[in-house]
Amino acid sequence: MKRRQFVQAGTLFTLGAMTSSLAACDTGASGTEDTTAGKAEKAATKTFTLPELPYAHNALAPYIDEQTMQIHHGKHHAGYVRKLNAALEGHAMAGKNLAEIVQSVTDKDTGVRNNGGGHFNHSLFWEVMQPGGGEVPAGKLADAINSTFTSFDGFKEQFAKAAATRFGSGWAWLSVGEDGKLFVSSTPNQDNPMMKNIVEQAGAPLLGLDVWEHAYYLNYQNRRKDYIDSFFKIINWEAIAKNYTNLG
Ligand code: MN
Repeated sequence: MKRRQFVQAGTLFTLGAMTSSLAACDTGASGTEDTTAGKAEKAATKTFTLPELPYAHNALAPYIDEQTMQIHHGKHHAGYVRKLNAALEGHAMAGKNLAEIVQSVTDKDTGVRNNGGGHFNHSLFWEVMQPGGGEVPAGKLADAINSTFTSFDGFKEQFAKAAATRFGSGWAWLSVGEDGKLFVSSTPNQDNPMMKNIVEQAGAPLLGLDVWEHAYYLNYQNRRKDYIDSFFKIINWEAIAKNYTNLG
């Protein structure tokens, strides 16, 4: 895949069926300003808003508990959105959509990098999970996983290792690289594979796992491995496969 196509794919990714809430994040049309003028004004300044969870806070229990989801979504993710809006005030990237921001951020844009990444990553994270998920992928994505990682178990092993060995806070990813091939990686803090000016291996993320302690500490304390094992029981493979097909 050429760079230009990749950038388009990344943009498509955020607008795909699965990530409808990511697209919704860009509208700025929420909150108390429900008039047309209010919406237009907010859209013009591209104020990002917290997307709603696509399920109830207790829907992922017992794998992820209700209180963790309430704090993670309502406090942590909301904080990234608020700080991103603040960081964009007067910034050259103000007015761009979330995918454009994440793709063009550099290591000089600390506030936008951390909070734009935080907003993007969490918006994706909620969408790649579902209650009663966890079955294996099917179709084109299953074929790609099998050919890249030998088998689904081979993929799981590599992904779980990336998540378990990320020192401190960060994420594990399954992404489509610029060459069109799948790869597993991990990034520190709120970086992600879309940040092509920052990461070693750039790509469009299909699946992300938050391994910050705030994502699991209430239920799992220091047992990050148990949290990773639980994550595999609630992955929304159908949505991820649909998104992969859209990228193709
Ligand atoms: Mn988090």
